[in-house]
Amino acid sequence: MFNKRTKIKDLLSWTPDGQEVTVMGWVRSFRNNQFIALNDGSTNQNLQVFAELGKFDDQLLKRFTTSASLKIQGHLVASLGKGQVMELKADHIEVLGDSDGEAYPLQPKKHSLEFLREIAHLRFRTNTFSSVFRIRHSLAFAVHQFFNDKGFVYLHTPIITASDAEGAGEMFRVTTLPFDNPPRNEDGTVNFTEDFFGKSTNLTVSGQLEGELGATALGEIYTFGPTFRAENSNTSRHLAEFWMIEPEMAFFDLEDNMNLAEEFIHYLISYVMKNNPQDLEFLSQRLTEEEKQLPQDKRSEMTLLEKLAFVNDNVFERITYTEAVDILLNSPAYKKKKFQYEVKWGIDLQSEHERYLVEKHFKKPVIVTNYPKDIKAFYMRQNDDGKTVAAMDILAPGIGEIVGGSQREERMDKLVERMEQMHVPADELWWYLDTRRFGTVPHAGFGLGFERMVQFVTGMTNIRDVIAFPRAPKQAEF
Ligand code: ATP
Ligand code: MN
Repeated sequence: MFNKRTKIKDLLSWTPDGQEVTVMGWVRSFRNNQFIALNDGSTNQNLQVFAELGKFDDQLLKRFTTSASLKIQGHLVASLGKGQVMELKADHIEVLGDSDGEAYPLQPKKHSLEFLREIAHLRFRTNTFSSVFRIRHSLAFAVHQFFNDKGFVYLHTPIITASDAEGAGEMFRVTTLPFDNPPRNEDGTVNFTEDFFGKSTNLTVSGQLEGELGATALGEIYTFGPTFRAENSNTSRHLAEFWMIEPEMAFFDLEDNMNLAEEFIHYLISYVMKNNPQDLEFLSQRLTEEEKQLPQDKRSEMTLLEKLAFVNDNVFERITYTEAVDILLNSPAYKKKKFQYEVKWGIDLQSEHERYLVEKHFKKPVIVTNYPKDIKAFYMRQNDDGKTVAAMDILAPGIGEIVGGSQREERMDKLVERMEQMHVPADELWWYLDTRRFGTVPHAGFGLGFERMVQFVTGMTNIRDVIAFPRAPKQAEF
């Protein structure tokens, strides 16, 4: 058996008194020909390994270059040096894999996030990215914990779909037809009956419609899977491939939906605060450090840790879309013509407006409800005013929209009428309409963009830095 190692994270919680241990990891640094800082990915903290002078062959010492991988057997002793309470006094050191220190792209200095994105295959080896990805893991785990504890069923909705009716965004086509010479109909259009699925198919933009099928039988379901949008927008909040969590609940109205979403976000934040304190501490300091380059008024008023605690200690502000528009129209920013995009009842809020509401006006997360029906999807429940739908978006500081959801239209006649108005083909969605035909119930749901949540918790400003291998326009390396 090879893997008789102790993880550094576990070992650092012990009281050193000569225990014999084996560790394995990668050299972060080697100084004075005696001290190895070893990292094994279990924690941001390195283990100091003491290689006593004269004990090891010079040829061996030369191989302790940055990122070389080592297997070390030794005794855990109290450290005499400053900065660590213990160190591993090495008895045997074996190089598992050499690393050419000259060629290794990560030097012991600060690299920009842009540079690290170009070497995304190695960036896990930095403190910043190892923290981000441990937290991402914790958040994913917490998602399942939260819903499992509430009795929700995890539903795997399909990644390849034939419905292009949802209208959540531009889609990627899935086909096995030869694109240089596809079979054609008489009118010249592509004949998809000859395609793999016998119809035109795409990568899913949302699992919601299938989620509703589950919820209207199982009661409460959630999905957690990849979604794809061919949006040609190069922003710090959009990816072409991202992960989304979509709970869907029978017997929920809009308020039930908001309550659940708020509780969920609080739960996720608390979970990470409890389980990843060192990673959060590190990222909080990193952000504060990074913001020192910004002018005073662009810096955050709170550290990342303070912000997370603040969000958890406060309830989210709840306002209607109409109130949001009024606030914007009466804002100093609007009067001084600081907004680039128009503010008017009936048009969608732009990210600058969302950020104003959250960061300047309320200074906390805001849930905006009851949007005009013409800027929202066909399945949202129509309000009695005839103008708005029971939608809710949650806006978070620094991120903008983090959740989009609604109470769904459960009334068959209203739904069909809306589909006609919005040119959504009812015949293609016969299966969706069956839920309204056979025992329809009030129900609601929302979608939380997982990467935006990871961004919020880690304080990473660019969404490409919270997913291992980002997919974005002109970017599919690794
Ligand atoms: P936005 O207005 O920010 O583009 P949206 O209105 O298109 O968002 P929805 O269709 O409601 O978003 O999707 C639900 C959630 O999925 C959003 O609240 C957001 O958190 C996330 N999301 C949407 N598009 C993307 C994307 N391209 N990359 C990453 N996350 C996304
Ligand atoms: Mn979008």
